[in-house]
Amino acid sequence: MNFADFYKNSIENPQAFWDNEAKLIDWKEPYKQVLDYSKPPFTKWFVGGKTNLCHNAVDRWADKQGDKPALIAISTETDSEKVYSFKELQSEVMRTAAMMQSLGVGKGDRVLIYMPMIAEAAFAMLACARIGAVHSVVFGGFASNSLATRIDDAKPKLIVSADAGSRGGKAVPYKPLLDEAINLAEHKPAHVLLVNRGLVPMDLVAGRDVDYATLREQNLKAEVPVEWLESNEMSYILYTSGTTGKPKGVQRDVGGYAVALAASMKYIFCGNPGETYFSTSDIGWVVGHSYIVYGPLIAGMATIMYEGLPIRPDAGIWWSIVEKYKVTRMFSAPTAVRVLKKQPPEFMKKYDLSSLKALYLAGEPLDEPTSQWISSELGVPIIDNYWQTETGWPIMSVARGVENTPTRLGSPGVPMYGYNVKILNESTGEECGANEKGVVVIGGPLPPGCMQTVFGDDERFVKTYWSNFKQPMYSTFDWGIRDNEGYYFILGRTDDVINVAGHRLGTREIEESISSHPNVSEVAVVGVEDKLKGQVAVAFAILKNAEPASTPDGRKALEAEVMAVVDKQLGAVARPARVHFVSLLPKTRSGKLLRRSIQAICEGRDPGDLTTIEDPTSLQQIKTALTV
Ligand code: AMP
Repeated sequence: MNFADFYKNSIENPQAFWDNEAKLIDWKEPYKQVLDYSKPPFTKWFVGGKTNLCHNAVDRWADKQGDKPALIAISTETDSEKVYSFKELQSEVMRTAAMMQSLGVGKGDRVLIYMPMIAEAAFAMLACARIGAVHSVVFGGFASNSLATRIDDAKPKLIVSADAGSRGGKAVPYKPLLDEAINLAEHKPAHVLLVNRGLVPMDLVAGRDVDYATLREQNLKAEVPVEWLESNEMSYILYTSGTTGKPKGVQRDVGGYAVALAASMKYIFCGNPGETYFSTSDIGWVVGHSYIVYGPLIAGMATIMYEGLPIRPDAGIWWSIVEKYKVTRMFSAPTAVRVLKKQPPEFMKKYDLSSLKALYLAGEPLDEPTSQWISSELGVPIIDNYWQTETGWPIMSVARGVENTPTRLGSPGVPMYGYNVKILNESTGEECGANEKGVVVIGGPLPPGCMQTVFGDDERFVKTYWSNFKQPMYSTFDWGIRDNEGYYFILGRTDDVINVAGHRLGTREIEESISSHPNVSEVAVVGVEDKLKGQVAVAFAILKNAEPASTPDGRKALEAEVMAVVDKQLGAVARPARVHFVSLLPKTRSGKLLRRSIQAICEGRDPGDLTTIEDPTSLQQIKTALTV
């Protein structure tokens, strides 16, 4: 079929379009209404229909192809590898579900999952989906303060965690960070279920902490039926950074998400039952939710969960996995490809990669040299796709399952079916012409799979995303342009969110953390272009007492101290690459930090319009700080 017609139909007749796609999943009870958009911007898909994500991802396939591989858990950190068939996955999920129920978890209760990339993390997510509990996975790289904020917002009854993760062969303890987070949080979970991997010693808190293996033993024969949920009930919360220090809980439904994923697996990722999918992301991010756990399984594919680095034991590890498991579709991020590009090329040539049909890259802009390099090495299509935690599946890409649309270097493609994408002028709100830079927005109703609201805060959902222009439009907070032929290009964020190695971080969160250092009175954090990671965070701090920073050694020590504060509170993932010390920060006369000007100076660009700057010498300070 022609993609242009397919797309047009999805925008002009969303009800008929999605009614058809809804056939891709199993429904326990049919829906009464495809779309309820009576209270915009809130969107309800498949109203009255009953379904379940775990049924569609696991049980459906356990019946049809029970002995085929479902979950392949590989860790080069602990040298382990285990393949679970759909039947085995079903049994493990039922055990975990029974364990959760025995700890008092039921429908609607939140379960926070703070885990490394081990099979039990997927069991826990699917078990929640099975019993109608709401999971909130927190990336294992986050530390106590980040965790505490999320605990207080989600108010989980149960936390599932582990003794430790592992990185580069070194254990990274989780339990002490979790204990500290629970201490810091006002909300206290009733129980903590802990997988003991034997990586580091772990003390269990009596009455609260429960050993996973022991409880599993008691539930070996558990048979836990699926809880059928109304399509618009909540499936999960996933926190993401925004412009304030407080992360937003992106809330997702059940039926719309299942349909959106099933459709994306058909039209964008082109996966078939019995094939193997390999996404190198982490379950802590949205890619991990949609395209490690739910999407591939809903499509009846085996999915690989990989714990480890891309270059350990050597840079051939991913390709050896592709060969061994005959991976057909692979999903990664440009940063990982840039890491591999620095390695000797023979590693890729050592393996038979003939099973691979395409490599999908997302999370950050894909630069042309990276795209060209990996394309010539692999000899398969490289498919950039652009989306966000909020949307749950690609906003832009090429839908090769519909038509063999060509890709364009540097462009993530064209709007995907269901997304009414426009580019608006930031100040006038008028639609931009071809090649004119503006803000990428989406007209409502958002298609199935997108966020329902901000968890517990409908007002924040409307105010943050839908109130930036005179007409209600969902703002992606990304700059973009559309060329003459309808291909889009993403040009970075319009807000204070930065993207480090494909990881989204809020500069405000990092600023708040740095401000808690006893000698910091004020700080600005900006994202600065980096060849490997896309962007890195760079901080400029004003000290209460500047004396310790008067010598190079003193500055170094202070910089290390500030970094340690961020490491401890937010996690190493948020640690700034540099902390500079200044006595003045560029601000407008009304006191607003001129972050874009600071960023421009760091990147050697013109600082832009400075008519409102309070004290121009502050810019000189930034320049000088960069040279010391
Ligand atoms: P996250 O919510 O963590 O997935 O981050 C979403 C943000 O990452 C988007 O708003 C973009 O700024 C950026 N992003 C994701 N995918 C792409 C892509 N393919 N090209 C350019 N930027 C991207």
